[in-house]
Amino acid sequence: MTDCVFCRIVAGQIPATVVHEDEHTLAFMDIGQVNPGHVLVALKAHAESLFALEEAQAAAVFRAAARVARGIRAAFEPQGLSVYQANGKPAGQTVFHFHIHLVPRHDGDGMNLTWPVKNPPREKLEDYAARIRARLGAAPL
Ligand code: 5GP
Ligand code: ZN
Repeated sequence: MTDCVFCRIVAGQIPATVVHEDEHTLAFMDIGQVNPGHVLVALKAHAESLFALEEAQAAAVFRAAARVARGIRAAFEPQGLSVYQANGKPAGQTVFHFHIHLVPRHDGDGMNLTWPVKNPPREKLEDYAARIRARLGAAPL
């Protein structure tokens, strides 16, 4: 039996409260509920992170996220909604099976992400962009 908690949820081996399911994705309530209505949109197939997604999986997961986000908005009428998605431990990932957080937001709800801007000169941006453009064909891991 797998020790991946989200694979076990997908397989029905442990319970989850599901809000949406399709061929590639399963969306269910995050057990932690940062705010009421906090949903995880997970891939059904085990993929550790964004870097492992095939095109069809990437498309499906964001399609499902948009659909569920509209449902959250209609049901909870939050003032906003944050999409949060972590890849790797330094990014805050704790479950190493790809998922997107949809978190309804309200003024002063206490959810914070520090955002230490560097504002580098444009030449730096050009350099960073060129490096990325040169590698856009990189295959999924
Ligand atoms: P990450 O830190 O990897 O972005 O988020 C993992 C999320 O999975 C956490 O917000 C945590 O509350 C949630 N989580 C962990 N284990 C379970 C579980 O067994 N069931 C559900 N529904 N959520 C879980
Ligand atoms: Zn898994």
